[in-house]
Amino acid sequence: MSGSLTIGPDRHGRTVAIAEGRIAGRPSPGAPALACPDGEIAAGHVCAHTHLYSGLAPYGMPPADPAPEGFLEILERVWWRLDRALDAEALRAAARDYVAHALLAGTTALVDHHESPRFIEGPMAILAEACEDLGMRALLCYGATERNGGRDEARRGLAECGRIAATPLIRGLVGLHASFTVSDETIREAGNLARWLGTVLHIHVAEARSDVEDARSRGFDGPLERLMALDALVPGSILAHGVHLSPDQVKAAEAASCWLVQNPRSNEGNGVGYASSLASSRHVALGTDGWNADMEEEERVLFRLAERHGDTGATGRLAAGQTLIAERFGFTASGLQPGAPGDVVVREDGRVRQVVIDGHVVVRDGKLARDDIGAIEAEARQQATRLWDRMAVL
Ligand SMILES: [Zn+2]
Repeated sequence: MSGSLTIGPDRHGRTVAIAEGRIAGRPSPGAPALACPDGEIAAGHVCAHTHLYSGLAPYGMPPADPAPEGFLEILERVWWRLDRALDAEALRAAARDYVAHALLAGTTALVDHHESPRFIEGPMAILAEACEDLGMRALLCYGATERNGGRDEARRGLAECGRIAATPLIRGLVGLHASFTVSDETIREAGNLARWLGTVLHIHVAEARSDVEDARSRGFDGPLERLMALDALVPGSILAHGVHLSPDQVKAAEAASCWLVQNPRSNEGNGVGYASSLASSRHVALGTDGWNADMEEEERVLFRLAERHGDTGATGRLAAGQTLIAERFGFTASGLQPGAPGDVVVREDGRVRQVVIDGHVVVRDGKLARDDIGAIEAEARQQATRLWDRMAVL
């Protein structure tokens, strides 16, 4: 159940009231209070594209041998081996560790994109439970693909998207991995499923040039045009990356009411280029693509790269993510405006002290309110060792 809470006043004299999970114009009578005389109240950050399944990577993932050269080899030798090695226990530990650290960094909503080809039935319930237990708001999907098992694999992936139960904290999306790993039939089915479920598509678009070349070889101008031609870009759809879209294509995505999500640390790490065309849309949020969900760190990298590439349009992406979340959960406002989600962070000298999501305190005095970070990390370390052993024999 959504909570009611009155937060503040903070050091600037600001008080924020939450009534039944929404920011309200005035405090609810009888609502509990959260004092923060030394703190500063702000809306929680949103990570608009990530992969909880990579949550164990910081625990000593062995480097690929031989070292990958280029984006497709990084996928094949690192992430597509990791996702094949995932089972329920490893995924649960990865998700809990990722979500816990995201909360402690002041991130109050995650937009996840999941793949585990040897475990297609069931991962959505595990991710939802990890978020619910710790109090995180999230949009979840299975990224359907044909790259291991053809059309049957894709149908199973789409069916898993249909099993995500909506709660005050969770909504489902329909996921496709990327245009270059699915057929026209799967793209059409994904669009139809999103409309049927009343949700939107979440897909990687033009992350590397190879995605563009693949769509061209199939007779389309690019992956965006392919998704549009096959009627899959439901308004509100979430397109991760867009590194190799032109300014006109980015404008076309905005005209179709789609969100683009920039992932600067990932793009730099994978050497796919800088997404300079994204400045042509106002609907651009910030994601981490599996890197930790410390959005202030991600934004610092964004600004560093934007300056280097002469991109003057890279501001406002964190606030855009809040609008994306409000849209998907049916809130009438974002940020700290009345009607926005009751997702609030209190910092002291820049450090996260209190985190409130849906009107409930989930981080209190800098510590998880519902669990123990030490226990979560210990479980992650143990599962990581098992996972690297499984990856080694794949
Ligand atoms: Zn991604």
